Amino acid sequence: MKELELIHWIAERAPSAAGLATGIGDDCAVLDCPGGGCVVVTTDMLLEGTHFSADDLPEDVGYKAVAVSISDVAAMGCRSLHAFLAVGLPAVADSALARGLFDGAVAAANRFGVSLAGGDTTRSPGGLSICSTLVGAPPEGRTPILRSGARPGQALAVTGDLGGSLSGHHLRFVPRQTEALQLVEEYAVGGMIDLSDGLSSDAWHLARMSGVRLRLFADRIPISPRASAADPLGAALNDGEDFELLFTVASEECARLSGAGLAGTPITIIGEVLAGTPGVTLVDSSGRETDLKAGGYEHFSR
Ligand code: ADP
Ligand code: MG
Repeated sequence: MKELELIHWIAERAPSAAGLATGIGDDCAVLDCPGGGCVVVTTDMLLEGTHFSADDLPEDVGYKAVAVSISDVAAMGCRSLHAFLAVGLPAVADSALARGLFDGAVAAANRFGVSLAGGDTTRSPGGLSICSTLVGAPPEGRTPILRSGARPGQALAVTGDLGGSLSGHHLRFVPRQTEALQLVEEYAVGGMIDLSDGLSSDAWHLARMSGVRLRLFADRIPISPRASAADPLGAALNDGEDFELLFTVASEECARLSGAGLAGTPITIIGEVLAGTPGVTLVDSSGRETDLKAGGYEHFSR
């Protein structure tokens, strides 16, 4: 069973309760607060050997654990507020490992104004594991942006550039919280997702959840100078862990958005939203259209 099938299987059996406004399937869950308003919650697990290697600096791993969750909260157009960190430390863990891990996590939390509100500490029989849970909230008077909000006629945009993650950028990236908060204040945003699996897969999630077709122009995709020289477009489409934001906006706002950028980060309009069978069409430089397969990172493909 592939990751997405397993998540569907879980979602079909997931009990619900009053106040669960958005459950399994988005970057965060949206929970109604008893007194009004809502919070968003996300949890992400990082495992040695899958998300980082034993050679990576503990500070970088701790930073990444918090940053990936901040990225998910940003993808909801929300601000991260409180973090919980659960760690499994190898049996032979020296205290420098644990200290480094938390120094990195606290650095990320401080940088984005997030508290460390709790967690759990256990001994792992294998490698290091770290699980971060983050609680965030939309700016006053706003509601979270969902993956299901893309509408035909809107433009498809992305922050920063793509494909540079494998050169080490996947550990010390800057989650796009500031950009997301400016975006929701100043523009009419449709749907949004952060790019963790890879553009081809995450665009597909956005399309499926919104019930739309996304048309992407290959020669507009902003490719990182760090992307593999052998296949830069392939890296931008499939490598994953770029942690940029992919979102849709009213098409009349494109010029202003791409001209001004967001919080100093360039914004590129890479495509458009169409009605039709949900999925992603890639238009190459000669105008040829192909159905883009979800080719990003898949946990259970190997
Ligand atoms: P992201 O890459 O944005 O963190 P994921 O692909 O990890 O998102 O997860 C997609 C959705 O599935 C999220 O809403 C997440 O909460 C949910 N999900 C993933 N794994 C599980 C699980 N084991 N139990 C319940 N929900 C899950
Ligand atoms: Mg996400």
